[in-house]
Amino acid sequence: MEQKIEVMSADKVKIQRPDPKKGNNDYSPRSRIYVRDVKGTLEYFRRIFGFILLFAFAAIPWLQWNGDQAVLLDIANQRFRIFGMTLWPQDLTILAWLAIVAAFALFFVTTLYGRVWCGFMCPQTTWTFIFMWFEKKFEGARNKRIALDKRPWDFDKVWRKTGKHVSWLIVSLLTALTFVGYFTDISDLFVNFFTFGASFWAVFFVLLFTFCTYGNAGWMREIMCTHMCPYARFQSAMFDQDTVTVSYVPARGEPRGPRSKKVDPKEKGLGDCIDCNMCVQVCPTGIDIRNGLQYECINCGACIDACNEVMDKMGYARGLIRFTTERNLQGGRTRKARFKAVGYFVVMIVMTALFIWDVATRQPLAVDVLRDRNQLYNINMDGWIQNVYTLKVLNKSQLSETYTITSEGFARSELSGKTTITIEGGGIATVPLTLSVHPDDVTERVQDVNFVVQNVNDPDVVHVTETSFLYE
Ligand code: SF4
Ligand code: SF4
Repeated sequence: MEQKIEVMSADKVKIQRPDPKKGNNDYSPRSRIYVRDVKGTLEYFRRIFGFILLFAFAAIPWLQWNGDQAVLLDIANQRFRIFGMTLWPQDLTILAWLAIVAAFALFFVTTLYGRVWCGFMCPQTTWTFIFMWFEKKFEGARNKRIALDKRPWDFDKVWRKTGKHVSWLIVSLLTALTFVGYFTDISDLFVNFFTFGASFWAVFFVLLFTFCTYGNAGWMREIMCTHMCPYARFQSAMFDQDTVTVSYVPARGEPRGPRSKKVDPKEKGLGDCIDCNMCVQVCPTGIDIRNGLQYECINCGACIDACNEVMDKMGYARGLIRFTTERNLQGGRTRKARFKAVGYFVVMIVMTALFIWDVATRQPLAVDVLRDRNQLYNINMDGWIQNVYTLKVLNKSQLSETYTITSEGFARSELSGKTTITIEGGGIATVPLTLSVHPDDVTERVQDVNFVVQNVNDPDVVHVTETSFLYE
């Protein structure tokens, strides 16, 4: 049985905000945490991941495939175009496998490395850091921002605040246009939006997502991570004593206290923590990692970079705050292979295999056969028995295709109607057909019959639909 690790309960966590008695703790979250800028290896990696994520997000809807938008989640027409593949409501299992694979990949990574997703890849974190970059450009570093907020309004304060909010709104608007561009033709959207020709719903969703981005990354920030994100709540179910998380090493840091660089801390009975509070000031969620593991921690490692810089300045070894495990902190050796991690990994691999199988065996063709409900059967002038059907043929590919329709099940039968059809990519054809069967072959009231729809150019694309032939 794996042991869970202690996570500090929410009421004991102290978010480092300015003193309410000083009059600036009204309900205005962005006046509460002033995040200090930090530089370091982890910050560098976060920027790289952020740029990759941002670039992918912005570039994907502009990619073209066979002259069309390569990725288009066309909800209005109930089809998702993803490069060469078009997914229809009938293909939802593919999306389900993908969602399950993503969920188990997240569980697996969280079990091994905690909330690294939150700290390095989550869009909320990426956009928050972009907004913080603009904030710093207009309002300066942490101390200047605190001073600016305390200062009465003057021209300098007005233009800095205006510049910051305008830059946030521009980023939010571009984010919203790009996001909505995943669901509609993005080039038309950009042109129509800026020439006031976009539809009501397009404008509505662009403004909605602009507002959400501006609110989330500009104002809400850590509140999203600490109070609204469901992942923060259930992550502790995946954590155990071998999960790598950002941790302060109390055995090395305590007792903490300020001292001169020239003084040997051992002589003064001190640990390596100089109580400079830098780790707290750089924390985007405003917590003090020295209090132990808290669910607010997004594993971003900003406190590691800050503390390493302090350790360098003091001439101490780095790593007072570091990525490590609870077991390691208690002097044990971290176990990589644990039942839970292996379980998540196995499920992830099985689901990935099912996803690949589903994609590989997917036919770009769907057929529905409907019987004529008005008349069960009729008999033609030659005495042959006839049943009438309507075939709905969906070409799920993105190219125009030609299909032949045949029937199977009777030795002597004739299919009359349009038995060769051409359907444009993504199109549906409704084909009425009459199946006439020699009376000697009709031996029962209900007999099975198959309709076979086959692609002329690619005979492997074939759909067989079973239905019934009725008589009396
Ligand atoms: S940054 Fe390091 S030295 Fe400074 S308070 Fe935090 S843990 Fe202590
Ligand atoms: S405690 Fe450290 S790792 Fe956790 S959120 Fe704050 S800065 Fe990031």
